[in-house]
This record gives sequence, C-alpha cells and structure tokens, in this order.
Amino acid sequence: VIEATGVSKSFSGHMALHPTDLEVRRGEVVVVLGPSGSGKSTLLRTLNWIEAADDGDVWIEGKSLAWTEGRNGRRRRPEREIDRIRQRIGMVFQNFALFPTYTARQNVALGLMRLRGVKRAEALSRADDLLARVSLGDKTEAFPIELSGGQRQRVAIARAMSMEPVALLFDEPTSALDPETVGEVLTSMTDLAKAGATMVIVTHELGFAKKAADRIVFMEDGHKIMDLPVDRAFAPDAPPRFRAFLELVD
Ligand code: ATP
Ligand code: MG
Repeated sequence: VIEATGVSKSFSGHMALHPTDLEVRRGEVVVVLGPSGSGKSTLLRTLNWIEAADDGDVWIEGKSLAWTEGRNGRRRRPEREIDRIRQRIGMVFQNFALFPTYTARQNVALGLMRLRGVKRAEALSRADDLLARVSLGDKTEAFPIELSGGQRQRVAIARAMSMEPVALLFDEPTSALDPETVGEVLTSMTDLAKAGATMVIVTHELGFAKKAADRIVFMEDGHKIMDLPVDRAFAPDAPPRFRAFLELVD
C-alpha cells in the first residue's frame, strides 16, 4: 500500500536521509529502529510527504506523491492533490495534538464531519465505536485535560483510525508518556496490528517490536542498514551493526 523508492532528504547540506527504498504491504507491521538522529522521523515523514523528499517518490495505493501525469507530460503533483492522497494515511505523533475544548468523542468525530462530510450523529456514533476499540468506551465525554497521557494518545489513535486509513504511521507514540501508561498504548497498537492494520512504527520499545512487528528496519546515519523479518532481525546472525545497537539499548 506504500512504496517509497529512492527517497532522500537533506537539511542545509546534511543528508538526513540517503536514498532509501521501503515497501509496506497490506496488513504488515514495520517497526523502524535506530539511534537518535539516524533519520527515522525523516523517513516516516517522507512516507506521507509531510516532508517532501528531495529525490525519489512515494506511492500510496498506486498514486505517486511526487508526480502527476498531465496533458503535457509529467509535472509536480499540486499540494491540494497530495493533501487528498495523504488523508489515506493516518499519523500519530509523540505529542498527540487533541483539541482541548472538545471531548474525546468530538475529537475523534471532527475529521469525519469536516473532511468526509459525515453527519454529526453518525460521526459521533462511529467515534464511540472507535474509542471502544482502544478501551476508552467509558471516556467518550472526557476532555483531554481529564485524561492521562496514555488515554490521550489512545484518543489520538482512534482519531487517526476514524478516517479508515490504508496505513497508520507512528512516530515514537509512547516516548512522551509516563512509564505506567506506555503499556496501555502499546496494547492498543498490538490489538490494531492483530486486527490487520497496516502500520509503520518508529519506537524504542524493543519488547513491542519483537511481539508486534512483521519486519524490522534499522536506520543509522541516514541509511537503511537492515530490513528483515522480525525473527531474522533478532536472530544471532543478524547484521553486526544492528546487534551492536541492541546491546546498547537493551
Ligand atoms: P530521534 O530518535 O532523535 O527522533 P531520528 O532518527 O528521528 O532521531 P531525524 O529526526 O530523522 O532523526 O533527523 C535526522 C537528521 O536530520 C538529524 O541530524 C537532524 O538533526 C536532521 N533534521 C531533521 N529534521 C530537520 C529539520 N527540520 N531541519 C534541520 N535538520 C533536521
Ligand atoms: Mg525522530
């Protein structure tokens, strides 16, 4: 459903991401690991073109984000069209930006009403279903300030799910949370994975990676060093640089 080919990005002369390929198939869970500054976020952000790559292209359900075919040949795809394709991808960040003056269910329902034209009652009822899926069925009327960090992050996940995305991207979804609420968010993500969601997740949670990932991608200095099925990534004969990274973080 997502295919990145040769995407690269530099910031003021520094290559944050060297040309990288990444394919994400339907139902697959890809966990991206790597040290700080290795280009994980940059890779994730190019996948939905929030960060337009300098080179290369990303295809979402067969649609190129960089280019479109016009009558006079290939031209850069206009931002308005990119926006529409991008809506097919859900994103969950480290700092869940919920609307403080809206309840959990309103936060989840908003996108459906504004972007999809779903009627209010229908949107609110779908929001309740989605909140139940992340075990927040009893918090639908709560405002963000009344929720724990982990609960807020689960609202953010429900909100991302509301648009029925073909894939969900997570950038360190638990790194801003109190340790005691990390588990509940990872549990919700594991549930989604089991239910067949397609996900790309940047995280430092190795236990979660081993349990939930189909594939592990390892980044270092802006390069994709490794891209292996999870059992081979955590096997004794995995690439030495990845083994060294694991020893550092474990
Ligand atoms: P972390 O684990 O700390 O989140 P990361 O692997 O996500 O790190 P990136 O955020 O992708 O790393 O950054 C890769 C490199 O690109 C770093 O050297 C970073 O300083 C640089 N970089 C990223 N975003 C920008 C930006 N908007 N402007 C300038 N430099 C940037
Ligand atoms: Mg990052």
